[in-house]
Amino acid sequence: RKPIIAIDGFSSTGKSSISKLVADRLELIHVDTGALYRGVTYFALNNFATKDNFIDLPSLFLNLDKINLEFRQENGALSLYLNNKNIDSEIRKAAISDNVSLIAKQKEIRDFLLKLQQNFGEKGGIIVDGRDIATVIFPNADFKFFLTATKEERAKRRYLELISLGFEITIEEVLQNLIKRDKIDSEREIAPLKKADDAMLIDNTNLTKEETVALICSIIIK
Ligand code: C5P
Repeated sequence: RKPIIAIDGFSSTGKSSISKLVADRLELIHVDTGALYRGVTYFALNNFATKDNFIDLPSLFLNLDKINLEFRQENGALSLYLNNKNIDSEIRKAAISDNVSLIAKQKEIRDFLLKLQQNFGEKGGIIVDGRDIATVIFPNADFKFFLTATKEERAKRRYLELISLGFEITIEEVLQNLIKRDKIDSEREIAPLKKADDAMLIDNTNLTKEETVALICSIIIK
């Protein structure tokens, strides 16, 4: 079997963009599992939002079978589709980022996405980024990395990325969102965000994206 590479870490440590670049270089398929949680959150906000903008969780849990999430190959990258609709840009919106961690801590949701994620691993040759990849989804992954950086640096990077995508947001809003998500993700009961004992810790506060990519590639091909 071809290798499985797990990339976990805090919000906005560059997990997805770094994983994508490693995938291109080593001819692997990149799976962004955060996008799946965002996709469920998008479905929930569209169909089961209450008047005061909370999510009606019991109704959501009863309707998970109406969610069909799939990655489709599109101009060399994977795009996320929910029930045949491309939701790549929808899932980056602030309303999704504000609610995704509350959705992701629910056992029903994690169970629902577990098999879907593990199915990607059947043939190997994948690099999967998320929060519980090395600990829960692929505990036998061939390589495990855990990314971190200071929260100020992470907020700056995510802010610049969102601005370049045309979103109107302040750096303070981005910082508060990532602090909140890291807290909920780390403190939840099921599959909390944490470094696997056998994962390699990479603090990339002072590394460029390319330097982190080079470091990860050098370890995989050694
Ligand atoms: O990676 P991204 O920031 O897009 O992930 C969005 C959210 O999805 C995280 O803050 C976390 O709540 C949830 N998530 C998770 N487990 C994963 C990937 C993401 O709980 N494997």
